[in-house]
Amino acid sequence: MDMTPLPRTILVAGGAGFIGSHLCAALLEEGHRVIALDSYQTGTRHNVAGLLGHRNFRLIDGEVETLPPISGRIDRIYNLASPASPPAYQADPVRTMMTNVVGTNNLLALAEAKGARLLQASTSEVYGDPEVHPQPEGYTGHVSCTGPRACYDEGKRAAEALCYDYLRAGRTDVRVARIFNTYGPNMQCDDGRIVSNLICQALSDEPMTIYGTGQQTRSFCYVADMVAGLMALMEVPETPDAPVNIGNPGEFTILDLAELIRSMVPTSAHPVFRPLPKDDPQRRRPDISRAKALLGWEPRVPLEQGLKETIPYFAEALQRPAIAAAG
Ligand code: NAD
Ligand code: UDP
Repeated sequence: MDMTPLPRTILVAGGAGFIGSHLCAALLEEGHRVIALDSYQTGTRHNVAGLLGHRNFRLIDGEVETLPPISGRIDRIYNLASPASPPAYQADPVRTMMTNVVGTNNLLALAEAKGARLLQASTSEVYGDPEVHPQPEGYTGHVSCTGPRACYDEGKRAAEALCYDYLRAGRTDVRVARIFNTYGPNMQCDDGRIVSNLICQALSDEPMTIYGTGQQTRSFCYVADMVAGLMALMEVPETPDAPVNIGNPGEFTILDLAELIRSMVPTSAHPVFRPLPKDDPQRRRPDISRAKALLGWEPRVPLEQGLKETIPYFAEALQRPAIAAAG
């Protein structure tokens, strides 16, 4: 039974990132004290600019591999610190692996020292290029441990292993969320992921890049649904003995997504085909039965509605001076 008094003090590592910034806002909305820690490797101060004046919000510059000391009480730790887009995590693959392994270990040790509960942001990438479809949590995956995605996939798998080692040893209470493709405001225009690329290309009348045939699939979750799922998993009283998939089971081909975006943005842009990156998963769709049963959670926002919320954000972000977007 969790006896932590309310409001809680909650550390969000990666709090200036895309999902992290929405999570910080939602936690503040619930009345908690929030400390965001970020290295700004892929996130920006701009993402949390609206929170900086909040009396319960603190932003710390730092990286999880060399965790700065954080004094005082901490009741909850969300570990979202890691680049998430393939070009970003492959730009410095050794660093990506260390962020996920050393960084997660440092945060688990901090959770142990503070008596805090930790939620690890894992990923559908632990399933690799899956041979089981849709993917249930019991599927152990089909991951290349030497390919260009391994720094991220294997880093996240090692981080999951660390979480359960701490849990089994009775050192910390952990929750592991396997996050499937998520989109929404506060993604970076140039981060290289499919939703940001296609919307920004359409808005700029530039060719919409489709890698491979575009017949590969992904399942896209709107960020508000994702944040609700993560918070539900963090607060479910009984510690689940295994990871929980959080994502939207609606499955679309990349070409379907491009056509949907083209129908929603006035544009002269057309799809152009580019080579498929190595080890790019062909199909991906979460089995969310466990999340539904354990958390009573399921996504509410269909893709078209989520895109309608997201497109104006990118239209505004493209107008921003580059210096604001970077800092
Ligand atoms: P993001 O890149 O926008 O956010 C990650 C944040 O972590 C950024 O603000 C970045 O600057 C920060 N960061 C990176 N390395 C750090 C370090 N060493 N120390 C401190 N901060 C560091 O990505 P996101 O989409 O918000 O993803 C958040 C988390 O969710 C990541 O752990 C990611 O692996 C996971 N995830 C995301 C998705 C998705 O579709 N968005 C899917 C699966 C898993
Ligand atoms: N993709 C694409 N064009 C782009 C960016 C990505 O066709 O401009 C494809 C990519 O090859 C993958 C899918 O879209 O099949 C999703 O890519 P993303 O980088 O968003 O996330 P992933 O699920 O691969 O981590």
